Formats: sequence, structure tokens, C-alpha cells
Amino acid sequence: MQTLFKASLVEKYERALSTGELLFTESTVTKVPDEGVEFEVRFAPSLLKKPSGAPLLGEVLNSIESKVDPFAPYNPSLFLEEYGPYVVLLNKYCVIPYHILVVTKEFEKQTDPLFPRDLGAVWHYMMQIQNKKSIAFYNCGEASGASQFHKHLQLIPLADNLPIETYLNRAQYKRPGEIFQFPHWSFIHHVLLLDPQRMAGTDDQVIGEYLGESFHSLLDAMIESLRTQMNANALNLTYPPSYNFLVTPTWMLIVPRNKEKFEQISVNSLGFAGMLLVKSQEDLEFVKKIGVTKILNEVAVPNPAENPSLL
Ligand code: AMP
Repeated sequence: MQTLFKASLVEKYERALSTGELLFTESTVTKVPDEGVEFEVRFAPSLLKKPSGAPLLGEVLNSIESKVDPFAPYNPSLFLEEYGPYVVLLNKYCVIPYHILVVTKEFEKQTDPLFPRDLGAVWHYMMQIQNKKSIAFYNCGEASGASQFHKHLQLIPLADNLPIETYLNRAQYKRPGEIFQFPHWSFIHHVLLLDPQRMAGTDDQVIGEYLGESFHSLLDAMIESLRTQMNANALNLTYPPSYNFLVTPTWMLIVPRNKEKFEQISVNSLGFAGMLLVKSQEDLEFVKKIGVTKILNEVAVPNPAENPSLL
């Protein structure tokens, strides 16, 4: 089963690439150390030249009015398979090979929270793609870096550990399910380690229930932080809040968002895994000079414990 999906993924990816239905963008990775983490900044100069990459949210909002949704109908050359109430597609604009999307068949909003069935499905594909090395993420809401309004989770296979796992490795003493923060991040975020025993099963539905429960405990903690700690008006926060959610087989992280970009640098969920994307040498130099943590801080929501002036 695993081999079948992987084989079909590789075959369909290569075919879509060769016919030009899938656009892969070459990039080079520069390590940018900051606050004890070797952040990865991917420099993809050809993104600057592309007349239309992934659309901006404004364009998406217009497209919603004109009923254009790239996932319904989807491009059949990008179709991998159906899985219950989802279709699994290749990402048309991909920077990391074999980047896939798990999309609801029926239209659901990208501003909706995740349900156990969404997480069970994404877990299923994590297991199919690369047993331990993959990350799934959900860019939720206008300021999160999302460009499409139709509910979709994204999944990428990983060749190596994620930069942010340096912090996770230091937190291995935490109890599974205990919500905690990274000492180096002064913005609101909530992390938890998943229970290896509860993740050891093979039933997507059972794992989905556990992941759904864990996601909701992070979501509740995030809402509580925003409710009790934020001066929402001063920061122009919206309700429901925008946030990034990241999940691997061993941990989960949620980060509410204040802005989609800092200066010219856009940030989506992968930024909080320690991976940024830049389109010019100038932007790369800018990131090195400013530091990734500062950029993350600017697009997230300050934690008033560290910013008393906001209270
Ligand atoms: P987000 O920008 O987080 O909402 O994710 C949307 C994803 O869909 C991005 O990774 C885009 O590259 C990808 N995408 C945009 N248009 C299409 C399309 N027509 N078919 C498949 N993937 C697409």
C-alpha cells in the first residue's frame, strides 16, 4: 500500500512536471543561525520572474466572487487519488518536490478549524509518504499566508530534521500533551509533544481522534491567550483569528498571526518550522541582517508578558 502510493506519487509528479502542468522552482538553501537554530532560507530567484505564482489573497477573494477555485474542479494532471471526503493533489507551484495537498471534496472554508477526519487523512498520507520524516501544515485565515479559500492541508516529505526541532529536542522531558512555549520566542505560540503510544496505532480514525483532540487543546490555548492577553484593536486582529498550524508524527505547534508579511518577506506555516522563502539576493541579505526570529516575531502576535506596553 505504502509503496503503491509512493510509486504513483513519483510517476504522476514526473509526468506533470514534464508536461508543464506542475511548475517546480529551483532554489538554494542558506543556513541562517539565530537564537540557537540553524534557520533555512530558500532563495528562489525565478519566483520573481514568474508572471503569476500562487495568487494573493486579494485575488483569491475576487476569484471567490467569480467562483474560481483551483481545487474544484481541480486540474486532472495534478490528481493523485481520492481518500474518503478528500482529494489528494500535487501542488501546482512547488519548491519542494512531492509537495501534496489534501483538499476537501465539498467546499469547506479555509477559515474553519480542523476536525479529526482532516487530521486522520493527513496522518494517513504522512505514513504513506515518508514514515517519520514529513510535516503537514494548515495556513488558516487572511494573515496566515494562505492563498486559497477552499480547505486544504499541505504535506511535504523531508530529507532532514526541521530547523525548529532543535528547540523540540530540548523539550523532550515534557509530558505528552503538556502545552508549552519555546523560551526564545516572545510571541504567542503553543506547542505539544504527541504521545508515542497513542501515535503507534494504524487506524487513521483513531489517530485522527487523538490528533483532533490535541489540535483543539492548542486552539483553545491560543484563543485564551489572545482573549486574555491581547489588545486586539491596537494590533488589528480579526476574529476568527488567523493562525499557522504544524504537525509532524511527534509534535504540534500553533501560532496566531497578526500580519502576512514583514516588509517584503512573506511567512506561512513553514516559517515557524524554521524555513523561509525569498525571491531575491537583496531579500536574503535582509533576512540575514534582521534575523529570522525577529521576522517571525513581527508577523506573529506579541506576548504581552514580554511586551508590557501593549497591555
Ligand atoms: P496556501 O497558499 O497556503 O493557501 O496553499 C495553497 C497551495 O495551493 C499553494 O501551495 C499553491 O502553490 C497551491 N496551488 C495554487 N493553485 C493550484 C492549482 N491550480 N492546483 C494545485 N495547487 C495549487
